[in-house]
Amino acid sequence: MGKPSGFIEFPRELPTRRPIPERVHDYLEVYNPFPDEKLKAQGARCMDCGIPFCHQGCPLGNLIPDWNDLVYRDQWRMAIDRLHETNNFPEFTGRLCPAPCEASCVLGINSDPVTIKQIEVGIIDRAWDEGWVQPEPPKTLTGKKVAVVGSGPAGLAAAQQLARAGHSVTVFERADRIGGLLRYGIPDFKMEKRVLDRRLGQMEAEGVVFKAGVNIGVDMPAEALLSEFDAVCLCGGATQARDLPIEGRALGGILPAMDFLTPQNQRVAGDAVPESPHLHAKDKHVIIIGGGDTGADCLGTVHRHGCASVHQFEIVPRPPDTRTPTNPWPQWSNVFRVSAAHEEGGVREYAINTKRFVGENGRVTSLETVRVEMVVENGRPKFVEVPGSAKVYQADLVLLAMGFVGPERPGMLEQLGVALDPMGNVKSDADRRTSVDKIFTAGDMTRGQSLIVWAIAEGRHAAASIDSFLMGSSDLPRPLDHGNGLRPFA
Ligand SMILES: Cc1cc2nc3c(=O)[nH]c(=O)nc-3n(C[C@H](O)[C@H](O)[C@H](O)COP(=O)(O)OP(=O)(O)OC[C@H]3O[C@@H](n4cnc5c(N)ncnc54)[C@H](O)[C@@H]3O)c2cc1C
Ligand code: SF4
Repeated sequence: MGKPSGFIEFPRELPTRRPIPERVHDYLEVYNPFPDEKLKAQGARCMDCGIPFCHQGCPLGNLIPDWNDLVYRDQWRMAIDRLHETNNFPEFTGRLCPAPCEASCVLGINSDPVTIKQIEVGIIDRAWDEGWVQPEPPKTLTGKKVAVVGSGPAGLAAAQQLARAGHSVTVFERADRIGGLLRYGIPDFKMEKRVLDRRLGQMEAEGVVFKAGVNIGVDMPAEALLSEFDAVCLCGGATQARDLPIEGRALGGILPAMDFLTPQNQRVAGDAVPESPHLHAKDKHVIIIGGGDTGADCLGTVHRHGCASVHQFEIVPRPPDTRTPTNPWPQWSNVFRVSAAHEEGGVREYAINTKRFVGENGRVTSLETVRVEMVVENGRPKFVEVPGSAKVYQADLVLLAMGFVGPERPGMLEQLGVALDPMGNVKSDADRRTSVDKIFTAGDMTRGQSLIVWAIAEGRHAAASIDSFLMGSSDLPRPLDHGNGLRPFA
């Protein structure tokens, strides 16, 4: 344990965000640097609990009290080695994870939890700066070939684990760049792409071959994977967006969030994106439907475009400011959160439902809404309209950010004939094996829409199973065997 009295002496402290008037004019990360001395004090707050409940919040099995203590003691090199034992990409989770570990930190029972996520990103950023993160190519090759389809965090984690185990790994990605939602979903103001690129550089040096611009099932028959590779890992994500099939949906200016975020990320990367009036929010009245991560990313983006106004709608009621008796520690806390994008402006509307889009000359001009009340009937939530609550909102651009309903079936999945579960995700067993021999799966494609931390855990687990399948046994870790994690969004 760091400092026995640390949690009494030091309050929880996080880095400040750059001033709003400054940051809405660029796409750089919003946080100011956090000095090592402050991070050490935060590490000192950890009580090294006999039963570290933070562990049960983390699907990766991160050894949190160990590296909290190492940071407090200025042992940064040991801290990154400990962190890399369980997490291939702490720079992604340290920036982007909602931190279920912090929701289950014992300090959180009657105080503020340890700033676990900040300590994580502090360790890995320093490790990169110091040159401690180097390629770790295998000493010998097994001669086995593995194809990974999809280059999001699940595919990348699986690929890195398998390459380090000595297998020849090729990652296929249909987009023009590698990274999955880390590349074209998450905006640079949450994670600059240099952070992704340097990790991809390490993986290439370890022997991973990336093939971008190859849509398996379209550009290359899916069956070819089976004839050309000894094992396959499907990590194609849950890319089918949930739609809103109400009157007026076909009007111009109403689009799924990813159709808006992808070209925006390409623009920031310096690509020439075909300009369309729907793909930019300047001077527009914007409505974002959906209050999750995707909605917040749209919100931050339209602020930066210079929109005239923005409303974010959510059908459920506003969460409480603090935990309720039905949502006790160490569960994921369903409380009202203010992300950097929310801090920058816009109006958040809760308990509101969309009735009809109205337009002129084929373009959306407004939205008709109604207030709803959530009632629970037979254990299931139901939304009942509040009489007399109809309201019309002006809208030139509507972004649908209501989540994802599962993987796309035409193309690769249909050609391979893998079985799906009742939710429409690729069915897998505890080893992440699909119904088809040699084919494994990981991440959102089998789990449904989830989180980066889960995708990495899934990818690591699938890699261990594939290694075992190819070699008869494996020393790679199987994080999902711990059965930990509260699956807050799964
Ligand atoms: C806008 C947005 C913001 C988010 N923000 C956060 C956040 O802040 N924190 C967090 O923890 N989670 C966040 N999430 C969720 C998180 O990004 C996902 O859970 C995670 O990326 C899933 O990883 P994955 O590897 O399973 O799939 P993905 O990242 O979706 O990657 C799948 C890849 O497979 C490719 N692919 C699919 N089919 C084929 C094919 N046939 N051939 C070749 N390639 C194919 C796709 O093009 C895609 O690049 C966010 C999601 C979205 C949409
Ligand atoms: S639960 Fe919190 S205080 Fe306890 S070991 Fe984990 S991070 Fe430290």
